[in-house]
Amino acid sequence: MYTGIHDDVRPQLEKLIIDRDRPLIITDADEVLFNFMIGLEDFLTSLDLYFDWSSFALTGNIRRNTDREPIDQMEVGKLLSDFFDQRCAYLPAVEGAAEGLAMLSDHAQIIVLSNVPPKYAHKRRAGLCDKGMDFPLIANVGSKGQVVRFLTHELNAPAYFIDDIPHNHSSVNEHAAHVHRLHYIADPRLSDLLGPAEHSHSRLYDWPEIGAHIIRHIETGEY
Ligand SMILES: [Mg+2]
Repeated sequence: MYTGIHDDVRPQLEKLIIDRDRPLIITDADEVLFNFMIGLEDFLTSLDLYFDWSSFALTGNIRRNTDREPIDQMEVGKLLSDFFDQRCAYLPAVEGAAEGLAMLSDHAQIIVLSNVPPKYAHKRRAGLCDKGMDFPLIANVGSKGQVVRFLTHELNAPAYFIDDIPHNHSSVNEHAAHVHRLHYIADPRLSDLLGPAEHSHSRLYDWPEIGAHIIRHIETGEY
């Protein structure tokens, strides 16, 4: 039934305790809770690389200062792994994210669902705690839809999914269509490159808006 859930993820899910009668908010971390691009640009500078902002993708947009050529996909993978290892505990928090989650936690349970490599989950947890967002973390691998279905299985209350990447919304729509999907991209430069995700219910633009939107839906069942 959950064949798309990675072997490193399933044990994390089984450890979680979920109240079936309380609303559930499943939030991404990078570009939702943390300023990933600000951190990445700083990291790239330290490696004599830069991001060229021509599209909403990492591969093809990370270029060498020396010849302005993009690094290839394998190099991007290695670079991202190093980035999470060295930087994810220290990324700045998105403005209003900690306050928003604190407010929402009076109304709902909160789980952070991040595609940080599981071996660096403890570093992501350190970053979350340091920034006042001490909520359970699932370090996911691959698509998010089946994980969201697992988390919301038999839930008798509304569930919400917040993410910046359109294909994550598509995956949740495919496997857990009952979950309300909110598309949010914290970095305005990145946000400007992309319209609303096709399979999201709403595109939102800051944390006060996200908080008000979810509260309104919990209380009235309407957007
Ligand atoms: Mg993200």
